[in-house]
Amino acid sequence: MKFKTIFGEVIDTPCVGCVVNDNSKFNEGRIFQTKLWDISQDFEIPYPGMIVISPMRHVSNYIDLSEEELHELQQLIILCKKAIVNIFNCPKVAYMFYDKPNGHIHFVIIPLHGLVEINDKYAVLSELFAKAPDLLKDKQNMQRVVKAIDDLKTYFQNITL
Ligand SMILES: [Zn+2]
Repeated sequence: MKFKTIFGEVIDTPCVGCVVNDNSKFNEGRIFQTKLWDISQDFEIPYPGMIVISPMRHVSNYIDLSEEELHELQQLIILCKKAIVNIFNCPKVAYMFYDKPNGHIHFVIIPLHGLVEINDKYAVLSELFAKAPDLLKDKQNMQRVVKAIDDLKTYFQNITL
C-alpha cells in the first residue's frame, strides 16, 4: 500500500510499520533507533512531539514481543517521557498501545500540554486526526514539528541502552 507522510514522502510498503526497518525512508521523522526499536515522529499526524515507538521487526501482537524487546520498550518509554517533560515543559502525556489486526504494533506518546491545544484528553487521538489537515497546512506548526524532532534527536544523542 502507498501512503504519504507528513513530510510529503510517498512510501510504498506492505506494512506501514515496517518502514522503520528501512532507513532510506522517512528520514526527516526519525529520532532514535536501537537494534530492537525505532522512535520517530508520527507519520500521519503533524503534532509536535508526537512520538511513535515501533519494533524493528514485524510484530503484529503484543504477546509476540520478546523479553528483551519488552525490557527495552519500558526503558524507551521512560526516556521519551523524560525528553518530553524536558523539551516541552509538559508533565502529562497520553500513552497508547496499538496491536491492530494484521498491523505492526506500535506505542504512541502524545504530550498533552504541547504546542497545539487539546480540548478532550480522552479523545486526544481522534481530535488530532481531525486537526491533521489544518496542522499540515500551518507552516508555523510544521516548523515546530521539525524543531521538536531536532530537540528529541539531541536529547537521545548520548543515550546508550
Ligand atoms: Zn510491519
